[in-house]
Amino acid sequence: MDHTHQHGKPVSILRFSDNKEVIVDNRELEKIFNHPEIQDRKVVILSLIGAFRGGKSFFLDYCLRFLYAHFPSIYNPSKHKQSFFRKNDYWIAGRDEPLKGFSWRAGTKRETIGINIWSDVFLHTMDRTGEKVAIFVMDTQGLFDTESTPTDNSRIFALGNLISSIQVLNLKQQVQEDHLQYLQFATEFAKFALKKNLKPEGKPFQNMTFLIRDWENNEEFRYGAAGGHNYINEVLNIKQDQSQELKEVRKSIFDSFEHVNCYLLPYPGEVVAGYKNYDGRWSEMDTTFKAELKNSIEHLLHPDNLVIKKINGIDIKVNEMKLYLQAYMILFQS
Ligand code: GDP
Ligand code: MG
Repeated sequence: MDHTHQHGKPVSILRFSDNKEVIVDNRELEKIFNHPEIQDRKVVILSLIGAFRGGKSFFLDYCLRFLYAHFPSIYNPSKHKQSFFRKNDYWIAGRDEPLKGFSWRAGTKRETIGINIWSDVFLHTMDRTGEKVAIFVMDTQGLFDTESTPTDNSRIFALGNLISSIQVLNLKQQVQEDHLQYLQFATEFAKFALKKNLKPEGKPFQNMTFLIRDWENNEEFRYGAAGGHNYINEVLNIKQDQSQELKEVRKSIFDSFEHVNCYLLPYPGEVVAGYKNYDGRWSEMDTTFKAELKNSIEHLLHPDNLVIKKINGIDIKVNEMKLYLQAYMILFQS
C-alpha cells in the first residue's frame, strides 16, 4: 500500500530567530490556505506541542500515516475515504519502512523554535452532520526546553491554542506543576488576544490532550486513553487543602478547554529511545508500545473525535482561519 507522503512537506510558517524575533512566512501560509479545494470547508487543526526531542515529530509522522490511509487530501483528491475499522491495523502498512514526514532525528542539535504545518491537507465529510472539513497537521517546536525563556514558551503555546482545535501537549513521564503553570499562562495570554470578541460565556478553546511518553506507572494508571483519563482527572482534581495558586491553575484549565483528554504511552524500547541510526520503522518498537501507539492514534483521529475549530462559539472556515492566523501572528510579532 502506498501512503504517498512524498507530496506533502513540513512548511515553516512561523519561527523565532536567534535574537528572539518572530519571523512569519505569509507566502507559504497563503499557498496552503488558498487551495481552492478547501476554501469553503470548516477547519480541524491538530497541533502537537512540547519540548525538543520529546518524540513529537515521530508521533505526528504516524498520525500522517493514519490520515493518508483513511482520507483523501488536496494532493491525493481521488483517493476514496476508507471506512474506519477499530481493529484494523492495515494503516501501519510498511512495517520496515523508514518513517517519513516531519523531520525527526536522533541527534542532540536543537531545531528552530516555531511552527511547522504539513503542506498537504486532508479532506473529510463529518459522518453525523455531513459537514465538509479540512484537516491540518501542525508540529510546534521548542517548549519547556532549557534554552527558551518562559515567555517564549508561553507565547508559542498561546499561539498553538489560538490556532488549533485539537491541542496535544507532549510530555515526558508525567505532568508537572510547572507544565500546568505554562498552560495557564498561555491560555490567559491567548484569551487576552481573543478578548475583543470573546463572549463571557463558553470556553475559548476546544480540545486539550495530554500525551505522556515513557509512562512508568502502569500499575496505578493503565496505558492508553482510559488510564490517561483517570490520571489527568487526578492531576487536575481541585483539592481542599491545595494552595490558592494550585487551585487557580486547575480552574483556569477547566475554564479554557471544552474537553481535556490524556493518553499514557509506555517506553518505546531501546532502539526507538536510543539508537542513533534508528529510522522510525514500526518493526523495531517494543510490542506494548506498538499496541498503545496504534490505539492512541486511532482514538485521537477517529472521525467521531475530530473537532471543528471554533472562535467565539462559531465554526471557522479555511479562508477565515487564514485571516485569524495572520492577525494572531502579527500580534506575536509586537
Ligand atoms: P521532537 O523533537 O519532539 O520532534 O522529537 P523527535 O520526534 O524528533 O524524536 C526524538 C527522539 O526520541 C528520536 O530519537 C526518537 O526515536 C525518540 N522517541 C520517539 N518516541 C519516543 C518515546 O515515546 N520515548 C522515548 N524515550 N523516545 C522516543
Ligand atoms: Mg520535531
